[in-house]
Order: sequence, then structure tokens, then C-alpha cells
Amino acid sequence: MVPSIRLNNGTSLPQLGFGVYKIGDDEVAGVVRTAIEAGYRAIDTATLYANERGVGEAVRTSGLPREELFVTTKLWNTEHGYDSALRAFDTSLSELGLDYVDLYLIHWPLPSLDKYVETWRALEKIASDGRAKAIGVSNFQIPHLERLIEETGTVPAVNQIECHPWLQQPLLRDFHEKHEIVTEAWGPLARGGDLLADEKITTIAGKHGKTPAQVVLRWHIEMNHLVIPKSVTPERIEENMDVFDFALDAHDGAAIATLEQGKRLGPDPDTLGS
Ligand code: NAD
Repeated sequence: MVPSIRLNNGTSLPQLGFGVYKIGDDEVAGVVRTAIEAGYRAIDTATLYANERGVGEAVRTSGLPREELFVTTKLWNTEHGYDSALRAFDTSLSELGLDYVDLYLIHWPLPSLDKYVETWRALEKIASDGRAKAIGVSNFQIPHLERLIEETGTVPAVNQIECHPWLQQPLLRDFHEKHEIVTEAWGPLARGGDLLADEKITTIAGKHGKTPAQVVLRWHIEMNHLVIPKSVTPERIEENMDVFDFALDAHDGAAIATLEQGKRLGPDPDTLGS
């Protein structure tokens, strides 16, 4: 059973969900069905991923009550601004074929565009209309969060950021904790490349009889992150869910802490869009 994480507006999300970046719209419904059968109840999509239609289809035809599934989507960079954000949200809901989402996020702050506060006001309206159960942001840095809070008084429920053992984000996580913002980790496996072959990770995996991916996901769980690994392979989809029967010890935690190297695999939020 996946534990829930409580958000600052009183709603909750399953701590481990399923990411669908780069899964095509034709394929995604089948993959999400596999994930739901494996026990996932939260799905993370975005307008950018161009697969909201298929995600919605899988949710609507799952046979589960809507309130047992949790859908996140995100506003794309071209839709910043109050009116455009409201329109973008309508389009997302209609693509999904749903009458609400559980979490709606601003995908990137685009500080040089200087519209994220205005966009955030549209998300406040969407939340007050009950069409998003919770609202949050993604890829926001501390100054962007400070400005949102200062100018609107509404603290994002979640900040979805690139986070993995190579980029542990201590300052941002600390800020989140102080302001009751939940850290959601994207790219949690560092996209499945060399990190999973790192000797420190493979040694910990061998000790616990788990796989490297399971060790990294367990690290996220113990850091209280929301975490949304992606895979299209049924065995890995199951493997990534099977992280609730072991715990890392202090030596494991200390070894993983040494992997920090400030290594981003995605864009820098301060400069994207400049
Ligand atoms: P990830 O770290 O989840 O890595 C996924 C890749 O890792 C897979 O494609 C596969 O190659 C490999 N993998 C998965 N399970 C494995 C296993 N058990 N063993 C070995 N390899 C395995 O990276 P991601 O997809 O970039 O991030 C996860 C989700 O986060 C995305 O699908 C998306 O929903 C979200 N995301 C958000 C943003 C954002 O800007 N907000 C950016 C990127 C991703």
C-alpha cells in the first residue's frame, strides 16, 4: 500500500505515482492501465507531453471510482498569463475528459517573461472553482516561490523539481519544509542512466536484495518526496512500485548523500525562456 502525503490545503496524494513524459498518446492508455493494475493511483502528465487524451481515457475506463485516482497536469510555457492560463486549463480538462484534476502545476516559471504571478492568480481561481483539488508549481526556485507567496498569499501545495542523488536540492527542500510545500521529484532515477550503475547504489542494492532503481526510489520515499518514476516496461513498472518492504540504514543514507554533484539533466529554471 502506497502511503499518502498530505498537502497544505488538506488534500492528499499517493506518495509514489507514475510519470508519462515521452509516452505517445496512442500508447499511453495501455501503459497507464498496466500501472494502475500494478497499484499506482497517481498519474503525472502535462500539456507538453501531448498525451492527456490517452491518460484521461485510462482513468475513465479503469473501473475505479474517480476519487481513487489522482491526476496531475501542467500549464505549458506558451500559456502564461491570466486569461491564457484559464483557457489552457479548459483545454486540458477537455483533453482528459475529466471534470477536475487533483493537481494543476505551472510547468516552468520563465522568470524573464515575468508572468508567473499573473498565471498563479488564474490557478487560484481554478482551485476556488473546485476544478483543481490542489495547485502548485514546477521548477520554481526560491526567489520565485518567495514572490508568489508575498504577492498572492497562496503557498503552492507542491513544487515539482528535478531531484535525484546527483542533484539533491538541499536549499530548495529546506525552503519547502519551512513553508509546507511538498517536494515532488521529477527525473527521480536520473532518467535511468549511469546513476543506477554507480557502485555505491549497486552495493546498497545488493545488501538489501533490491535493484538499484528500488534503492533510489526508497531514498526519495524516506526523504518524504512525492515521486513519479516513468517506465513503459511492465516489469519495471512493477519493480518501481515494490519499494515498501525495506528501509535504508544510516550508512546507506550517508553513502547516497556523497553522490550530490549539482548535476542537472534538464534545463536551468533561471534561464529557460530567456
Ligand atoms: P525518470 O528518472 O523517471 O527515468 C525514467 C527512465 O528510467 C525510463 O525511461 C527508463 O529508461 C529508466 N527506468 C525506469 N525504471 C527503471 C528501472 N526499474 N530500472 C532501470 N531503469 C529504469 O525520468 P523522467 O521520466 O524524466 O521523470 C519522471 C516523470 O517526471 C516524467 O515521466 C514526468 O511525468 C515528470 N517530469 C517532469 C518534468 C518537469 O519539468 N516538471 C520534467 C521531466 C519529467
